[in-house]
Amino acid sequence: MKLLDKILEANGKFVKPGAFPPLPKNPQKQFAIFTCMDTRLVEFLEPAMGIKRGDAKVIKNAGNTLVDALHGGVIRSLVAAIFMLGVEEIFVIGHRDCGMASVDPDELRRRMLARGIDPQIIEDYVPDLSRWIGAFSCPEQNVAAVTGKIRRNPLIPKDVPIHGLIFCPDDGHLDLLVNGYDQVKEK
Ligand SMILES: [Zn+2]
Repeated sequence: MKLLDKILEANGKFVKPGAFPPLPKNPQKQFAIFTCMDTRLVEFLEPAMGIKRGDAKVIKNAGNTLVDALHGGVIRSLVAAIFMLGVEEIFVIGHRDCGMASVDPDELRRRMLARGIDPQIIEDYVPDLSRWIGAFSCPEQNVAAVTGKIRRNPLIPKDVPIHGLIFCPDDGHLDLLVNGYDQVKEK
């Protein structure tokens, strides 16, 4: 059985009419999380933070990086979360052993070429492949940099705290790097 069929079969067993009471789309705890797409964080980061389904907006990408710090997709999601969906605080959460901390742009290019991607396309669309893929060397530095970029973004209100934390995908521990309350302007 192919993966798609397995997923659809699992879904057929999962859905039970009336089993899931409807939740409001605004987060019950008024905050957003921006974190990594790492599979080890799924069903692990949220309980490690004491939150559950319906509590927070969760934005994910590879390495919780902010490649377009002014108006990219992450900022777009945060603006929607703050102005439309009741989000009042932002948590940027990187994690130890992040795959994006070891991305080699040259190896990435080689693999893209090997899979048939036209080198001219790479040159035209993503000439600075390293910057575009968001490669970084240290997850802690990346969280600090991303937290600062969001803080400085003129579309983000100055009274929204931007916290920066590092998560351990093995034992679930969170370390605080940036306390966003230190930087907000008092309301
Ligand atoms: Zn990661």
